[in-house]
Amino acid sequence: MELLGKLEGNTGDIVWDVLFNAIQERGIEAYLVSGLRNNKGKKINGAWTKYNGKEIIVIDIESPDVNLTLAHELGHSVLHRDEMDFAAYDHEEEYHDRIEWEATFFGHCAVKLIKNGKELDLDAMRSAIKSPEGQKVTETAIAEAKEKAA
Ligand SMILES: [Zn+2]
Repeated sequence: MELLGKLEGNTGDIVWDVLFNAIQERGIEAYLVSGLRNNKGKKINGAWTKYNGKEIIVIDIESPDVNLTLAHELGHSVLHRDEMDFAAYDHEEEYHDRIEWEATFFGHCAVKLIKNGKELDLDAMRSAIKSPEGQKVTETAIAEAKEKAA
């Protein structure tokens, strides 16, 4: 993995900039890298982790949709900060997992809200995704993914 530098805001891409501001407000350190791989050596789009109490996000420059990857990793911070220490974004293999689906669900919602000019209310999004209705959406998505893979 090669470290390319810190993520930066004020890019002029509204989706990226709003997400970047949310990440900064949460005190997360975020880096752009290339050649990001999981512990099995497979290429991945991004990762979120906690190290010495500090949250860190890395985004791979070759990620097919860097906005969605950034939104997904922000989702791990918002949704999973209190339940785990590490999550890697593998678009194929880890898709059957609740944690990954929740972050992806969050990511799609966040991108859509920003594109529609809505405010990004992270607490409200967390409550919605963790609600019984939100969990039902996650379970349905997992079931469909499993069916497709079978
Ligand atoms: Zn993830």
